[in-house]
Amino acid sequence: MTSKDPDCRPKGDCIYTLKFDDGDPSKRDSWDVYFMNIARQVASRSTCHRKHVGCVIVRDRTILSTGYNGSVRGMPHCDEVGHMMENGHCTRTNHAEANAVAQSAKHGVSLDKGEIYITASPCWTCFKLLANSGIRRIIYGEFYRDDRIFEAAENIGLEICYLDEKNELKVLVKVS
Ligand SMILES: [Zn+2]
Ligand SMILES: [Zn+2]
Repeated sequence: MTSKDPDCRPKGDCIYTLKFDDGDPSKRDSWDVYFMNIARQVASRSTCHRKHVGCVIVRDRTILSTGYNGSVRGMPHCDEVGHMMENGHCTRTNHAEANAVAQSAKHGVSLDKGEIYITASPCWTCFKLLANSGIRRIIYGEFYRDDRIFEAAENIGLEICYLDEKNELKVLVKVS
């Protein structure tokens, strides 16, 4: 825009074309993609660069809690003082899911019948925590480790889905 044009709105037809595209309902993200994208954004706050993981817990399409893998509040971050390695894993941080559950506990928010979007599948410890928090659906973006979650989910009636890199949803454990 030039100084002769104090009104900075773009001129010409293109603005209307853009508006039309933005408003095209077929281009709107699904709820699953929408929440996974938020989980990816949450992961960017992670304080351990060995792996950045983020999650969002929702119920009725409303966000209840978020979490990323990070240190205990007030303690130094891996990125500042190095990792705390134990058996090949960094133990300085809480996992993203554990931090989301802890945040809910801190603020008194029930997670019962909630759904969790996580950028990586939960480890066995976090899976157990989520199950006992009342989470009934897990949607992850990348398999991390531990196959035990699938059989356990089937046994307790917890749905597990995989949102692949093309944003296609695959239901791995279906609850009827
Ligand atoms: Zn670390
Ligand atoms: Zn975990």
